[in-house]
Amino acid sequence: EAKARPGEVVVYDPSSDLNTPHRLAMLGELRRAIQGDELVLHYQPKLELVDGRVTAVEALVRWQHPVRGLLPPADFVPAAETTGLIMPLTLRTLSLAIGDAVRWREAGHELQVAVNLSPRCLLEPGLPEQIRDMLAERGLPAHLLRLELTESTVMVDPVRSLAVLRELSALGVRLSIDDFGTGYSSMTYLKKMPVDELKIDRSFVMDMLASPDDEILVRSSIELAHNLGMSIVAEGVEDAETFDALSTLRCDVVQGYHLAYPMGAGAVLDWLEGRGV
Ligand code: C2E
Ligand code: CA
Ligand code: CA
Ligand code: CA
Repeated sequence: EAKARPGEVVVYDPSSDLNTPHRLAMLGELRRAIQGDELVLHYQPKLELVDGRVTAVEALVRWQHPVRGLLPPADFVPAAETTGLIMPLTLRTLSLAIGDAVRWREAGHELQVAVNLSPRCLLEPGLPEQIRDMLAERGLPAHLLRLELTESTVMVDPVRSLAVLRELSALGVRLSIDDFGTGYSSMTYLKKMPVDELKIDRSFVMDMLASPDDEILVRSSIELAHNLGMSIVAEGVEDAETFDALSTLRCDVVQGYHLAYPMGAGAVLDWLEGRGV
């Protein structure tokens, strides 16, 4: 319990208190939401700059709350992470994403689906086996699933993480480093990891035209990825100027509001067909 020293201002943040009735109620609801059908995925296309094709989408979770409406992940993923609900949430998300990828494939669109993996989940015993079984049950080829992990996720326990990543990679699942540039990452591990995609954090991409520092970071991330034989994605592309600059810099893939907002699974097919892909 934090105590104010003389002259110090303490701001009471009810959401940071694990035991407030509000928070306990919220966690009970979240548990039900995960088991029921209140979690929904929205998908955002990833576009290949070389030919304008869209061969992948990122799954972004939302909570369709019966009273509070559609809640963004920032409103409930952090709570899930600190209360043991993150693994059920992640398995649910994986299952929904795999189901949608199967349906798109049946409709003639072979789209790879990328799912965000929280730090806790990577070292959860049995994760690779659970993913392998889910893919086998639904009949989705493993290369159509990608997992996005942040640098810090891997650096918590690099040795164990590396072993798990190798297991996942051996299944054929693809792996990305998300939010690249925001964390501490060791070149040594980056080289060793079976990762074939780096995603530059949107904070750098969004400011790259205005900030020389961000432009240099984007430029050198592209070079680094290519030197390591990886593909590089810029997320948070909001305008045509940034899109063009990234194309000039030989970035491989772009994602952002300039191209499309995240959308429901059904809208993905309409969107693709509307583009004539
Ligand atoms: P992220 O992985 O960096 O995901 C991209 C976020 O950027 C998404 O926010 C997306 O809607 C937003 N975005 C996309 N294009 C643009 C753009 O052009 N401009 C701006 N300003 N933003 C853009 P969202 O959906 O609110 O997700 C926020 C974060 O929540 C994600 O960041 C990810 O870290 C986490 N998250 C989302 N879904 C899941 C999930 O299923 N599991 C876990 N563990 N985390 C998730
Ligand atoms: Ca992501
Ligand atoms: Ca990201
Ligand atoms: Ca992020």
